[in-house]
Amino acid sequence: MTTVLVSGAGVAGPALAWWLHRRGLVPTVVERRPALRAGDGGHAVDLFGPAVEVVARMGLADAVRDARTRTETLAWVRPGRRPVEVDVEALSAGVSDRHVEVLRGDLVSLLVAATRDDVEYVLGDEVTALTDSGSGVEVTLASGAQRVVDLVVGADGLHSGVRRLVFGEVPELFLGGYLAVFSLPWEQLGGRALALADVGRSVALYGVGDGSRARAVLLLRTDRELPVDHRDLAGQRELVREAFGDLGWEVPRLLRALPEAEDFYLDAISQVRMDTWSRGRVTLVGDAGYCPGPAVGGGTSLAVVGAHLLAAAVAGAGRDPAAGLAAYERAMAEPVRQSRRIGPAVLRTLVPGSRAQARLTPLVLRSLASLPGPLRRRLTSYGGGPARMLDAVVLPASPGPAVSS
Ligand SMILES: Cc1cc2nc3c(=O)[nH]c(=O)nc-3n(C[C@H](O)[C@H](O)[C@H](O)COP(=O)(O)OP(=O)(O)OC[C@H]3O[C@@H](n4cnc5c(N)ncnc54)[C@H](O)[C@@H]3O)c2cc1C
Repeated sequence: MTTVLVSGAGVAGPALAWWLHRRGLVPTVVERRPALRAGDGGHAVDLFGPAVEVVARMGLADAVRDARTRTETLAWVRPGRRPVEVDVEALSAGVSDRHVEVLRGDLVSLLVAATRDDVEYVLGDEVTALTDSGSGVEVTLASGAQRVVDLVVGADGLHSGVRRLVFGEVPELFLGGYLAVFSLPWEQLGGRALALADVGRSVALYGVGDGSRARAVLLLRTDRELPVDHRDLAGQRELVREAFGDLGWEVPRLLRALPEAEDFYLDAISQVRMDTWSRGRVTLVGDAGYCPGPAVGGGTSLAVVGAHLLAAAVAGAGRDPAAGLAAYERAMAEPVRQSRRIGPAVLRTLVPGSRAQARLTPLVLRSLASLPGPLRRRLTSYGGGPARMLDAVVLPASPGPAVSS
């Protein structure tokens, strides 16, 4: 049996484990977090075209559709004036005809639940050393445990530990923004999300769960990287307070809830740009290898499609899974290249750079939503567009029934 150690149980890790098991390989997923809690962290993420097809092939189409966010309108708040109401469903339908928006945490929970019975999860641990002997990889975990596996895959996100161990410090290309997301108690919003755009900052709020809570999404645009580490939660909360503290509307209430928000997440909007993301018997999938920028570039779709293609490529290589990595890289090269063009344009649209743009953005979005479909699709295709980036993907034929390990 071919054994694969997958680092990270976000989106890419469990999706990859599902497909590896389905193709008769034996995956183990190592996750740094001590527990996989239902509905964990994150804002709405998008599955486009082939990514929708991949989750459908996993038997999760109904579950993902049931879990979809149900935001119908986005009300852009304007101080002293009536909000501008944008028809979100029409806008998304313009981006892609096959698209589901789902909370990241709900997607992760579904993927983990689909693999839990068949895949070993090692929680609260992480890879600290890797030695590739050519015929296998010796893996050492922080707990001291050691294993020898046939292949190691880093699915451990934007700041991947596996990437650092194998490729050293690969610079993360800062796109000029930060994303912060957290939940808080809130009155029913129904399908109506609220948003406020200011120069260099924007805030959105939408209902989650039974409607007694909302998720706040804050985007900050800045030319320089701010001195905050991605693991320093206290420093990140302070950054949010400083950057948004003087913004009126409901923002003071959001900031008061910040200390209690257990699912608080903040990260720089950065891209990972590598010419190759495999070396010997180690490879990367999802944000670890080709993050296009959180919140702006379709990283979740790339992660899901990448996991599917990687599993097919290594399974197709028989006894030597590393021999399949070149085929995986070839299949992902064009979508990854396309994805790099999207983030900067989306960030500029979501966070205004001037007062005039702050006034105009909601009006432009409202007009876009009311245009005929084909025209809307053309105008929402940022340099290729998050939906278009996957056009080059050819999904492999699905394997037969699962082989039990
Ligand atoms: C808490 C959280 C919230 C997010 N919220 C958003 C959001 O609101 N909007 C958005 O666009 N994107 C968000 N993202 C990123 C988004 O999930 C990814 O861009 C995309 O889905 C690709 O998924 P991925 O599996 O490659 O990476 P991720 O979803 O980031 O998953 C990586 C996983 O690896 C784990 N991990 C990290 N380092 C190690 C390590 N050294 N060893 C073992 N495990 C490790 C992490 O805990 C995580 O479970 C979020 C990521 C996280 C972790």
